[in-house]
Amino acid sequence: MSEYTRDFFLDLDTHDELASFRRDFQIPEAMIYLDGNSLGAMPVSAQKRALDVVSREWGQDMITSWNKNGWFHLSESLGDKIAGIIGAKAGEVMACDATGINLYKAMTMALKMRTDRKVILMEGSNFPTDNYMAQGLIKQLGQGHEILFVEGEDILAAITDKVAVVSLTQVHYKTGKLLDMKAITEKAHAVGALVIWDLCHSAGALPIKLNDCKADFAVGCGYKYLNGGPGAPAFIFVAKRHQGKAAQPLTGWWSHAAPFAFEQDYRPADNIWQCLTGTQPILSLSVLECGLDIFGRVDMIKLREKSMNLCDYFIELAESHCAVFGFSLASPRERERRGSQVSFTHENGFAVMQALIAQNIVGDFRAPHIIRFGFTPLYTRYVDVWDAVMGLKNIMENEIWRKPEYNQRTAVT
Ligand SMILES: *Cc1c(COP(=O)(O)O)cnc(C)c1O
Repeated sequence: MSEYTRDFFLDLDTHDELASFRRDFQIPEAMIYLDGNSLGAMPVSAQKRALDVVSREWGQDMITSWNKNGWFHLSESLGDKIAGIIGAKAGEVMACDATGINLYKAMTMALKMRTDRKVILMEGSNFPTDNYMAQGLIKQLGQGHEILFVEGEDILAAITDKVAVVSLTQVHYKTGKLLDMKAITEKAHAVGALVIWDLCHSAGALPIKLNDCKADFAVGCGYKYLNGGPGAPAFIFVAKRHQGKAAQPLTGWWSHAAPFAFEQDYRPADNIWQCLTGTQPILSLSVLECGLDIFGRVDMIKLREKSMNLCDYFIELAESHCAVFGFSLASPRERERRGSQVSFTHENGFAVMQALIAQNIVGDFRAPHIIRFGFTPLYTRYVDVWDAVMGLKNIMENEIWRKPEYNQRTAVT
């Protein structure tokens, strides 16, 4: 493998069927951006769209835009576009709110559909907001629910008839480990439990088949692989067969059966609109649409293949050039068991990542020891893999990471 050269990777780029998508994104020339799993790159079209929604729709059409420019239905129409990316149907997804808020809604609905059971099964090592939201919800409900934290390999066996809801993230945010959605959902249904899938690290990163897997509920992020922009609205999926069965608890007017009837009392909408609460951020939704529209042209099978190639090459190169410096692979080695990121542990991971970022190779760090590299096949080139590993090698060989400025903690890592 040491026979790899930079030219080898340039040649792969020349033959890459997805290569032209890079032109749909604005990426600083000198930067190798391997953090699209945390904040996706900006679609070129976003700039024009943002200007248009502010100056024409808001500035000129003003309040008529709720009808004229489709503002009122934007969460739904974007939800339909997201549905196409995650294996759902139109009318099953709403683009709205933050992931944590949507999880709160979905979990409440699911628990209401299984009132005879008190156990929520989650992964303790999951991205904390999911667990925090569940803990807050349990307190709020005050009905004696408990969370059973189980990790990776032990999940299937832990799904028993005591479990009301299994709530898992399909791709682990730290390790990139991909859970088997179909097997877990099947097992949960076999014992009478419901499943909520968090797709934050899989929506836009790999083909997802929610309905094929008979998923009950799902939530996910707009600003990671979907490239919706900083703080982009998230999404919530409720399978058609569950809609109208249990209401989510944030019963604002947009979730009412007839919001513009202004009735005194609450009546839940019996469709996906019940997942909304109030007025949605139209500027953010408008920009999110630019990211979603790109996926309308993407073959997700090809995207997955390139993603796995990029990750495989990165692991192979990093291990052959940098293993001597104390990195060890924290992601699954088998490509089918990985999402679209590669993580390594290193005891000085924070400083190493700071030094990399200073050299315009942008990944991120997750405490205590993980450095993460996200591979976004729409705009990451094969040659970026080579250049990133050579940059890492340089930082280690020359001990650049030891500089004091790379050892100072910042608020956001
Ligand atoms: C990024 C991420 C979130 C983000 O939550 P917000 O409420 O949208 O800030 C939630 N869950 C997981 C698993 C994530 O990776």
